[in-house]
Amino acid sequence: MGASAGAEIDAWLRRGGLVVTASERAARGIVSAFDRARLAEGLKAWNTPGIQDWNSFVRAAWRERTLDERLLLNTTQEQALWAGIAAADGRLATLLEGPRYRLAALAMEAHELLCGHAPRFLRAAARSGWQNDAAAFSSWLSAFDEACRRQNLLSPARLQIELLQQLQEGSASEGEVDRPPLLLAGFDRLLPAQRAVLDAWGEWQEAGRGETAATIRFYEARDDQAELAACARWCGRRLAANPRTRILVVTQDVATRRGQIERAFLNQLGAKGSQRFEFSLGIPLNRVALPRTAHLLLRWLAGPLAEHELDWLLSTGHAAVNARETAALQAHMRALRSRGQEQPSWTLQTFTQTLAGRSQDNSPAGAWLERMTGVQFRLNEFARRPQTPLEWAELIPQLLQEAAWPGERRMSSSEFQAVRRWQQALETAGSLGFDGHRISWKDFLSTLGRTLEETLFAPESHDAPIQIAGPAESAGLTADAVWFLGATEDAWPANGATHPLLPPEVQREARMPHATPQFDWDLAQSISARLLSSAPEVQFSYAHQIEGVESRPSRLIVQHAGSAQLMPTELIAAPGADPLTVSVEDFSRIPFPPGRISGGAGVLTAQSQCPFKAFAQARLGARSWEPARTGLTPAQRGQLLHDVLHAVWAGPPEGLRSHADLVALHDKRDLVGSHVRRVFAAKLRPALRARMPQRYLELEQGRLIRLVTEWLEFEAARVPFEVLKTEAEHRVELAGLTFDLRLDRLDRLNDGSALVIDYKSGDVSPKSWELPRPADVQLPLYAGFALEDDQGLGGLVFAKLRAGDLGFTGCVGDPSATLIPGLKSFSSLAKNALTAEKLMDWRDCIDRLACDFLAGRAEVDPRDYPNTCEQCGLQTLCRIEENRAATEGEEADEDSEGGDE
Ligand code: SF4
Repeated sequence: MGASAGAEIDAWLRRGGLVVTASERAARGIVSAFDRARLAEGLKAWNTPGIQDWNSFVRAAWRERTLDERLLLNTTQEQALWAGIAAADGRLATLLEGPRYRLAALAMEAHELLCGHAPRFLRAAARSGWQNDAAAFSSWLSAFDEACRRQNLLSPARLQIELLQQLQEGSASEGEVDRPPLLLAGFDRLLPAQRAVLDAWGEWQEAGRGETAATIRFYEARDDQAELAACARWCGRRLAANPRTRILVVTQDVATRRGQIERAFLNQLGAKGSQRFEFSLGIPLNRVALPRTAHLLLRWLAGPLAEHELDWLLSTGHAAVNARETAALQAHMRALRSRGQEQPSWTLQTFTQTLAGRSQDNSPAGAWLERMTGVQFRLNEFARRPQTPLEWAELIPQLLQEAAWPGERRMSSSEFQAVRRWQQALETAGSLGFDGHRISWKDFLSTLGRTLEETLFAPESHDAPIQIAGPAESAGLTADAVWFLGATEDAWPANGATHPLLPPEVQREARMPHATPQFDWDLAQSISARLLSSAPEVQFSYAHQIEGVESRPSRLIVQHAGSAQLMPTELIAAPGADPLTVSVEDFSRIPFPPGRISGGAGVLTAQSQCPFKAFAQARLGARSWEPARTGLTPAQRGQLLHDVLHAVWAGPPEGLRSHADLVALHDKRDLVGSHVRRVFAAKLRPALRARMPQRYLELEQGRLIRLVTEWLEFEAARVPFEVLKTEAEHRVELAGLTFDLRLDRLDRLNDGSALVIDYKSGDVSPKSWELPRPADVQLPLYAGFALEDDQGLGGLVFAKLRAGDLGFTGCVGDPSATLIPGLKSFSSLAKNALTAEKLMDWRDCIDRLACDFLAGRAEVDPRDYPNTCEQCGLQTLCRIEENRAATEGEEADEDSEGGDE
């Protein structure tokens, strides 16, 4: 729809004619264009133009001609009806709620396809030959028709068929002669049922497409990121040159790529960028913060929330009345974790119990606790018996108000709109009570959850100069320039599967979407042709590589635009408009005051792994935490293993102290078993134990008994030794810092030297001590600084305790004479002998690390990206990903500049 088509529509509207568009979006686009044209003419007021999208047009025309008392179903009501019918069929797939509603959605879709493409199959007799899944759907459709007849209901998908009948009857009786002519805009294709309605209506025509764009280009980008960046950069330049330019960006997968697209445009459009583009498609309401917090709060009143859901809920600020309450709740969560009281899921009751003993009545947390307890009590009273969906829907605003949702902070305009949409969704879920049945609170919340998922939310359009839409949603939109992203052979024409509930031959005969590749080609051809006449300038682009896989240009686009050309340099290399973030090279250092430091050797290990990690952990108190699990976490398992080994080597009366004790031991398994049971009884927190099934704990105990018994068998084959200390604590002074170290075990070897041992249940290697940046300095630090002066060092080793992989690995002076008799010369222990030079080098390195930490060296500089970062968990604080993206971008720009010279 080029300039001439726009003029045709404008002239039609000015004459008072009615325009019918393919979608709501297209209707809004034409209204905006009409209003802009009147403003440009200097008018202050004008009549509202007659523009309706197809569904509104059909509904209004049907209502005008009927006194029908049937209830027009909304999506939630219709889906519930289909779900009930599918469940009554008793198939396995419909037993669970999730699959049942997914099947119901498929059935609704199949019904709509029949209504739009092949209404004759709505008669049961026409479907008599259908087989397998199609036969099952056919019987559901008969049941659906019967339910609608019995309960006086009507599916919106049937409206155009009903309207067709009314129009035919109206024409036959000559009761209606003054139907206004219609001008159709933005239809990529007319379905048979639409065409029948239009023909019965009387006079209608489609708006001409107008001239094809004068400038058509097709570009190839290196990859999809570069393609998106080039498009955003081009839009930024066009707007900088003329702020009144209107641009249409068409892309597939808008929903999945939305975040990426937003980032790319914000990067290019500067600080006010968010005002300069908007998406035509909304996002599901359950992903919008305010409705999501409301739904989570309601779920929490009667059931558990997963730990990550609770973290998110408390972080939004909408679960508490003000910032003080929010901060108090977040601090409580942190305290629970630091006490090891994390849980995979939390009921409101368990959470409030942990809070009850620790908050004063008049404290922020105390006020929140009192309020939520009251809300929960009120719900419990109400939920004693099932209610109608309408009654639940009426109760919810009261519960939320008592819970102080959404807090006292002033809401933005888009938050107000989100709350309004939430209220509509709530009413929709309440409308399920149209047949008067009663449901439980849990079932109502499921219905509400589904409604939120299916309701799309987009803040009111601010008529931004850049509109971003999918190919189908772009129907009816015009602009000064269009950029079509993702024109690869695989993606354009878009291909899909045939509908699983309709016979393939019916789909082919009725030309339903994806029934044959030719239909997909024809539709894509029609959309492409429409886009080519939507603006004077149209650019297509495709990415040569997508996620490491090569792609080819769309043949269809090549037919229109010729072969793809390389992306122009100015769209690759040139920096965009003012970036949203400003990079600052910060070389300042804030020295750490000498003295005691908590964290032991971990601080220097962190300093070596990444200076910022040491700074964040030791000076800012930053911590990442393992998510709670249903079973034991790796850290909890590791701690239990350490505790058992500590108990086994604790010496008489119940433990061992030397190789001789071990060899003399009659029944190793028996000794280990008694220690394991004692450790589980003493060290496992009661709350943790209560959460885990007894059988699971027995299996864990059995696993640990086997592992430690095997380890003792291994140690029995060692050269004789004596255990000097286990869990040995030692204070070390280093470069002005005081560290409290704890060592798993210290042995005296047969030559009188000391062996420093660290138990590990994961994959370890002495490579982690390699200079210049060791990944772990705990043992070198202990070996170099914590031994008594008269204690010669015989070696430092990791004791690997993994089922099927037991042994020592590390550096030992003379391993075959002091540790393992008959050790092969090619074994890693024999090849990695401990030398005086190694010790000196470690000492120097550790001294340097301590000095760097004291001096305040805190660069974000991981020793082995991305491996170091994957184990770290502070990515959100150090922003390593963003930093690297920026650095790589600069490097790529430099490379390409260099290449041009
Ligand atoms: S995530 Fe990586 S860069 Fe960030 S602090 Fe940790 S190790 Fe350093």
